[in-house]
Amino acid sequence: MVVDLYDAAVAQFDEAAERLGLAHSLRALLREPKRELIVHFPVRMDDGDVRIFTGYRVQHNIARGPAKGGIRFSPCVTLDEMRALAMWMTWKCAVVGIPFGGAKGGVICEPHTMSRAELERMTRRYAIEIAHLMGPDSDIPAPDMNTNPQIMGWMMDAYSMHLGYPVPATVTGKPLALGGSAGRLEATARGIQVVTREAMRCLGIEPQDCSVVVQGFGNVGSITARLLNRLGCTIVGISDIEGGVYNPHGIDVPMALHYVEEHGCLIGMPGTETVTNSELLELPCDVLVPAALENQITGRNAARIKARLLVEAANGPTTPEADAILNQRGVMVVPDILANAGGVTVSYFEWVQGLQRFFWSEQEVNNRLDSIMRSAYQAVYERSCTQQTNLRLGAYLLAVARVAEATELRGLYL
Ligand code: GLU
Repeated sequence: MVVDLYDAAVAQFDEAAERLGLAHSLRALLREPKRELIVHFPVRMDDGDVRIFTGYRVQHNIARGPAKGGIRFSPCVTLDEMRALAMWMTWKCAVVGIPFGGAKGGVICEPHTMSRAELERMTRRYAIEIAHLMGPDSDIPAPDMNTNPQIMGWMMDAYSMHLGYPVPATVTGKPLALGGSAGRLEATARGIQVVTREAMRCLGIEPQDCSVVVQGFGNVGSITARLLNRLGCTIVGISDIEGGVYNPHGIDVPMALHYVEEHGCLIGMPGTETVTNSELLELPCDVLVPAALENQITGRNAARIKARLLVEAANGPTTPEADAILNQRGVMVVPDILANAGGVTVSYFEWVQGLQRFFWSEQEVNNRLDSIMRSAYQAVYERSCTQQTNLRLGAYLLAVARVAEATELRGLYL
């Protein structure tokens, strides 16, 4: 069953709101996005044709600070998906205690079939269409699915040209040469490494005795595989869009990166067995890291997941139905709003550095990231212990309470 992401996001919020005893009006407010912008805009394609694209920018909540969240380019982008992802950004920023609200944006397009010039024209035009929302104090986009530092550079440039002066702090995830932060590219994976290590400690698993499967070999998945491997774990399965590869004795991750560079995909990598993406999720392993799309672990496969620990590197990879099954089976789930918060945390560092025009070393960025992720994990873990719930609800209780408090303290502007 395909689960509507926004329904899933609201259901998770409702559970936390109920446990926290939030007032009816506050609950109703936090269930809805604050602002939703839909834009239709023309782009000239390389063959001279003019195509109309549709894009979105949704701000869920700005009680704790400017709206923050990525931009995705994908044929699957919908308004409901943006709403769910924007709401998750609100909770994510609150879990790690950074002063941002939540937002998400995207354009419906097939980025892999577009030329670099077409992508640049589409990005610039989209940035201008949402420019009245953007700004370092109001709304700060970042990379997400199929977007990268170059695309962020174009967004920053289009916005700055519009104003007539450079405004680097209105976008994060920029190239280093444009005021990006050291460590931003690896930040999400580094955060995953920290929470995985903490969760393994709770379960009494030593990295050397731990087998890991990672779904997705993009920026997050590939670096996560490399970092967990470096921690001492054996990576037994990895996959990309085409499918996965498996070796119970371990996959050489640097070699896999090389192989993908040369062949465009993982399938056929020497010394591995080919598996489908759905088989990959059910492989025997201790830790499973879905780092690709949403809705991957569902009511259909949750009972067959072998991992003891599931770390959600992607946003929304587990449906509520699957979550209940995993919970009942005693699988520990580190929820997305905590697990993948390393990316937005270093986006926060990039924003701070940009506003101060004072840049930190990679070591400093990584140390600060490590400390924020560790404290957030600890706070979520303690909250779930005292409330006798799983980590997801623990994270939601913490995040929703923080956002509710800020919203109440600001009060109603009547
Ligand atoms: N797209 C990333 C996420 O889902 C990063 C967002 C950001 O850095 O603003 O968390």
